[in-house]
Amino acid sequence: MYPKIILKPGKEESLQRFHPWVFSGAIAKAEGGSIEEGDKAQVYSSKGDFLGVGHAQVGSISLRILSFEPAVIDLDFYRRRIRQALQLRSRLNLIRPDNDTFRLIHGEGDFLPGLVVDVYGNTAVMQAHSPGMHLDRQIIAQALQQECSHIIKNIYYKSENTLPFKADLGAKDEYLYGKRSAKRAVAIENGLKFYPDWTEGQKTGFFIDQRENRALVERYAEGKKVLNMFCYTGGFSLYALRAGAKEVVSVDSSEKAIELTRQNVSLNFGKEAAHRAIACDAFDYLRQNGKDFDLIILDPPAFAKHRDARHQALQGYRKLNTIAFKNIAPGGILFTFSCSQAVSRQDFRLAVFSAAAASGRQVRILHQLSQPADHSVNLYHPEGEYLKGLVLYVE
Ligand code: SAH
Repeated sequence: MYPKIILKPGKEESLQRFHPWVFSGAIAKAEGGSIEEGDKAQVYSSKGDFLGVGHAQVGSISLRILSFEPAVIDLDFYRRRIRQALQLRSRLNLIRPDNDTFRLIHGEGDFLPGLVVDVYGNTAVMQAHSPGMHLDRQIIAQALQQECSHIIKNIYYKSENTLPFKADLGAKDEYLYGKRSAKRAVAIENGLKFYPDWTEGQKTGFFIDQRENRALVERYAEGKKVLNMFCYTGGFSLYALRAGAKEVVSVDSSEKAIELTRQNVSLNFGKEAAHRAIACDAFDYLRQNGKDFDLIILDPPAFAKHRDARHQALQGYRKLNTIAFKNIAPGGILFTFSCSQAVSRQDFRLAVFSAAAASGRQVRILHQLSQPADHSVNLYHPEGEYLKGLVLYVE
């Protein structure tokens, strides 16, 4: 069996409430052999009660629990977890001919801390955030093949930038199964086609987490002038165009993102679409050209990657939203988001509140948004909640 970690007295409580992290300060000692980065280990209370088994890691989170029951972490274990995850996505009706893009594994939300798997058509993109998941990548890939053979024909592993760099595991981005076909892959979200770029693109190649919020943009975009800021691959723009927007402008500072947006627009709507894509800083664009838009989407990158950066991030949100409030047309609708895990829903709302107040305009909340059900939050692990958004009516 795996080596044991024994906790200090009284430190078992959070684990008994199924929170899946063991912090280094809670540990009294290790028994039954040395524990290296990424090894499996069991956790026991100071009284000798079994609490869980998981992946060990060097750092303030010393262990991530994979099972609160005694379990061997092997191919069968991963197959069970993947089956459970796939069942949920089927129940959510996310796997359809007109929607072959979904998150299959969302870390703690699917009881697999440190692992993300996104599916684009017949390709799964797998991302390890913990050394333990990196070391298990081959059996995870095998489990994916076995449980999802009807869907998945290729598995691309992309973890060079997601593993703790200090662990120095020499991770390589590569296909663990199958390969990129000669033809460029096209994936479908709610009937809209796009080119996911998992080898060169950001994250796993596409932001699946905005699917439902994009559908809400579609509801309000007909006949409107729409500005999609921080567009990346143009997800929101595609929905606005399908709704029959009068004009859609997509802005991103990355030339590559703008090129992808153009390609995705023409894949769905041809070259004549009422769309412009502009490579430019979002703050500058909004300041200089933000007037008269009826619908503005602000979906910036995580301004705070860490708790320490929280204050600065809130200022960033305030600044960005202030410019939007000053410029949006009367009767306009603003979709504003934060994907910083370190910024709480309450904090974000407060930043937006002060931006609105500074503009002196009347603002009503139409919707409060979050991440979709395939990015599920484990009730016992509130840290899994990261995406929050407000849809505002600005008079
Ligand atoms: N809304 C997108 C995801 C946004 S990701 C979607 O639905 O898929 C954040 C994007 O912001 C990235 O593409 C990044 O290139 C862009 N970005 C970062 N800083 C920027 C800035 N100052 N101005 C414009 N774009 C920026």
